[in-house]
Amino acid sequence: MKTIGVIGAGQMGAGIAQVSAQAGYRVLLSDMDQARAEAGKVGIARQLARAVEKEKIGQADADKALGNIECVGGTDAFAPCDLVIEAATEREAVKRQIFETVGKVLSDTAILASNTSSIPITRLAQAAPDPSRFMGVHFFNPVPVMGLIELIRGLATSDATVAAVEAFGQSLNKRIVHANDAPGFIVNRVLMPMLNEACFALGEGVATIPDIDAACQLGLNHPMGPFALADFIGLDTCLEITRVLFEGTGDPKFRPAPLLVKYVEAGWYGRKTRRGFYDYSGAEPVPTR
Ligand code: NAD
Repeated sequence: MKTIGVIGAGQMGAGIAQVSAQAGYRVLLSDMDQARAEAGKVGIARQLARAVEKEKIGQADADKALGNIECVGGTDAFAPCDLVIEAATEREAVKRQIFETVGKVLSDTAILASNTSSIPITRLAQAAPDPSRFMGVHFFNPVPVMGLIELIRGLATSDATVAAVEAFGQSLNKRIVHANDAPGFIVNRVLMPMLNEACFALGEGVATIPDIDAACQLGLNHPMGPFALADFIGLDTCLEITRVLFEGTGDPKFRPAPLLVKYVEAGWYGRKTRRGFYDYSGAEPVPTR
């Protein structure tokens, strides 16, 4: 593999483009338009400059990585890509439209992959030119820091496709795990019920936000408590994924906690709205209950 296409230059797409470019691949980065793709590249330049400042990489390597990334306005330029990773907004209609458009220009050996957190891979594959060359490649945020990739094969994904994407993931120095196309894959299947359960516990008055967070942080040796983590991920995203688990399995154990629903209905999404289970408007986060 030589050339990687990345569609969507937001948080995840920019991160995927960065680590691919640092590993020596040529990267074509697109978004809705050229300006958004360029904005993604400006963010990557900032990340690389920070890494140079912290002496994690040298200036020459940072320059080389940035030089490997070419921003393009749309996916018409994606014909030379060996692998295209879609990291656009988490909406099925958006992703389907992207696969139909890019599918028209890809070679008949190119692999198409989605970074979706929650949409079934087998269903998405229906919009791809060839479902045997389609799969899920789930990176974690922030991509340059997190050492894991979940690979998800759809019903029709070929062994050759999985092997090629696994080799690509390993070349980025990430640990690869394989998951079946089940709701939440591995990480969200295990994590979201824990965050949801913390919301039930809070709603039932078991303990306060800081005490539940401290209990999990110190008692389970987690780097952050469930409410701090849910605020970081975004409560809207947590609720969305919990609903996918609930609807996808039909199992009532995944039903969303009423308090989580209420926070999302209030528009309190966490850090991105400066208010979630904590209020982030001051110098220090303050619990909201
Ligand atoms: P984001 O909002 O930061 O970026 C999404 C980008 O997609 C935006 O720049 C948007 O302009 C672009 N976009 C929308 N429609 C497009 C189109 N038709 N063509 C090209 N670009 C388009 O979102 P994100 O957090 O980077 O998430 C992207 C994907 O990664 C989603 O599928 C999400 O579920 C998944 N994901 C997110 C995380 C996370 O923690 N944020 C982790 C793993 C996976």
